[in-house]
Amino acid sequence: MSTVYLNGEFLPKSQARVSVDDRGFLFADSIYEVCAAYSGRLFQIERHVARMTRSLEELTIRFDPRGLVPVFERLLAENGLGEDEAAYVYAQVTRGVAPRTHAFPTEPVAPTVYAYASRYQRPTPERWSEGFAAVTVPDRRWARVDVKTTNLLPNCMAAQAAVEAGVKDAILVKDGVALEGANNNFWAVIAGAVVTHPVTNVILPGITREYVLGICSKLGLNVELRPIFVEELSEAEEAFTTGTTTEVRPLVEIDGRPVGDGRVGPITRRLYEAFLEGIAA
Ligand code: PLP
Repeated sequence: MSTVYLNGEFLPKSQARVSVDDRGFLFADSIYEVCAAYSGRLFQIERHVARMTRSLEELTIRFDPRGLVPVFERLLAENGLGEDEAAYVYAQVTRGVAPRTHAFPTEPVAPTVYAYASRYQRPTPERWSEGFAAVTVPDRRWARVDVKTTNLLPNCMAAQAAVEAGVKDAILVKDGVALEGANNNFWAVIAGAVVTHPVTNVILPGITREYVLGICSKLGLNVELRPIFVEELSEAEEAFTTGTTTEVRPLVEIDGRPVGDGRVGPITRRLYEAFLEGIAA
């Protein structure tokens, strides 16, 4: 039985209880964060804490997430994930418990804070080298997806569309632009340039995206932060997604058509190799 953290306590998951009046449950009035841990070390934790702080501020939920770092470390240790090659911690903070009205509670309420740790499966080198397929789906999300809220139903529906199509990723499309994946950021290599959407309200500012942009600049790659039009995908040499548990995932087929020559491209491979070196360092 795994140990989880809820409102200041470490307890067996079966004993963790949240009120039915919790605004996270009733309204998705809540934010979350997911951070990888490699061999027990939290990866890019400062960036995750900074993004969480911003998400909380945007929703005016009063909670300081810096205190969660030792919680994450203890969850990894208590769940036997301290030596794990690839694990992650999940944290969610809701506005708290209050009688159901749409507007925020007038009296201050304590936020509900939940966290757990788990391992995740990274593809074998052989599987990674085959590449993955994706489908495009309409982006039906709200206009503030830069805030990492648990308002994820459109993302879940997109992910389900990918499952039903028998592919790994769903790429969300709005106004002809392939914005990002259901739970990762989207990139393409077009005319030799590494292209991904700039940070605006229409994508989540991925921590892995930021890290991979750093790798691009170290490798001296030509980067363009601009929208990727679906129409351009037929000319793309390579495509890939990035995310905390996605890492760097090569896409060799989108909507049944090969990307480039239909094989994992050299730039995606170099980025992944540099990423693996970075997490091992
Ligand atoms: N975009 C969306 C919609 C996501 O849900 C996620 C991760 O959950 C990402 C991008 C990637 O963000 P990160 O690299 O911080 O995991």
